Amino acid sequence: MRKPSKFRVQAINDEILAKLSLKNRYNFINSNLMSILTQEEFNFLKKVQKFCLKFEKDNKITHGPEEDIYDWIPIFGAEGYITRQHAFECIDLNYEEYGFTADFLRILALDIFDPQFAMSGGATVICINPIYEHHENMPIRLDALKQLVTGKTPGCLLITEPERGSDAVHMLTTCEEQDDGSFILNGEKIYNTNAPKAKWAVAYATAEKNNGNTMAQFLINTEWDGWHCERVGIPWVPKLYLGKEHLENLRVPKEYVLGGVGKGREYLFEGLVPERVAIAMRGISECWGALSHAFIYSNLRKQFDQEILKFQGVGFLLTDLWAKTTNLTLAMLKYCEVYDEKMKKYGGELPQTISQSMVANASQFKYQAALLSKKVCYECANLMGGAGLCDNTLMHDYLNISRIQEIIGGSRQIQQYIMSINLRRMFRSLETFES
Ligand SMILES: Cc1cc2nc3c(=O)[nH]c(=O)nc-3n(C[C@H](O)[C@H](O)[C@H](O)COP(=O)(O)OP(=O)(O)OC[C@H]3O[C@@H](n4cnc5c(N)ncnc54)[C@H](O)[C@@H]3O)c2cc1C
Repeated sequence: MRKPSKFRVQAINDEILAKLSLKNRYNFINSNLMSILTQEEFNFLKKVQKFCLKFEKDNKITHGPEEDIYDWIPIFGAEGYITRQHAFECIDLNYEEYGFTADFLRILALDIFDPQFAMSGGATVICINPIYEHHENMPIRLDALKQLVTGKTPGCLLITEPERGSDAVHMLTTCEEQDDGSFILNGEKIYNTNAPKAKWAVAYATAEKNNGNTMAQFLINTEWDGWHCERVGIPWVPKLYLGKEHLENLRVPKEYVLGGVGKGREYLFEGLVPERVAIAMRGISECWGALSHAFIYSNLRKQFDQEILKFQGVGFLLTDLWAKTTNLTLAMLKYCEVYDEKMKKYGGELPQTISQSMVANASQFKYQAALLSKKVCYECANLMGGAGLCDNTLMHDYLNISRIQEIIGGSRQIQQYIMSINLRRMFRSLETFES
């Protein structure tokens, strides 16, 4: 919990501020999930929560503006809490709890601890996944992968360009293949989370500008010549470092080419499914973070000599937000369960028909979780009155971070566009079936 400092005048009384502790917020969430999760899942959630509680206490974390969330990464990495999407046997980590369900629970615990920290971890994960998929057992790639997964450094992903955002497949950043199989990259990227702090970047470029068929995927060490990075300020997430990069004759040796010319577009779409699902998981976690604050606050805060929860205007709004969040959580858990089962059944390679429907599901979840996070975080802050808007608690962070969910990982309109393409495809396949 934040402690008042000379920059943060205490607005909330001592009793309520103490009750808004991380422990109590976790307890609220656990009461909601204990009957839904299996015993193993619940144990894993509690294990991550216990680590966060101890870390917060031992390091006297206040979540105030003076703290650098990037300092925490190595400690969480050493514990195996950067990602649990995979077991990571290829780098000898062999995590016992892994898959989408485990990662959802990990995200839930971390996001309640600190939402900006959880988001920075998400950006490292989208750098990890392409290396995991395309390391081809090459020691250089496995070494970079291990550094990222164990928190030795954050990572970043470079898709977006100043002139190519939603239209990501018509890139302007070029890659020119050399006789020795290396590539020379030139161009500009922007809004790349973690980039000014990251040692490793995964980047896309194209052999011919605006031609998606000639895209390629690269692993870049940001210490190489030709990497120039400035920090882009995003005031709603002031603790995150986002980059604008100028790649100037940046040479990528052959061993670092994850996907050659022609492979880039397929690899980009492959990475977008887990990215969008993870954004949806964070959106749901933000809802729980905001709800847990409003739940505790409205049960303690009195006006007109009554706890404000007892007024229908407060209590019924809170129940509406609670029901919507619970339902989306249940849907996400079901999706994770099915995904994990299928990944095991098919040995990590999903058949085309299943992975196609996963693309639509990822957009559906990302679209709805982002909308819900925006609504729940705003309304919970609103239910807390001035206390929801001051800087004594993490509500302020939830309110802000919930407003960028619709843009990251593809905007609301782009998710709708993807879903409508899927509806069209489904209709066509029904027509074929009929005839
Ligand atoms: C905090 C933050 C973190 C980010 N992290 C990363 C990162 O780590 N790596 C990375 O590569 N990028 C990252 N991004 C970039 C993000 O993915 C893009 O900002 C996003 O895809 C939108 O691109 P744009 O900003 O160029 O907007 P534009 O594409 O210019 O869109 C502007 C508006 O037009 C709408 N629009 C565009 N095309 C259509 C269409 N066909 N139909 C309907 N509406 C349309 C959009 O929905 C939007 O409302 C991040 C952005 C932010 C803000």
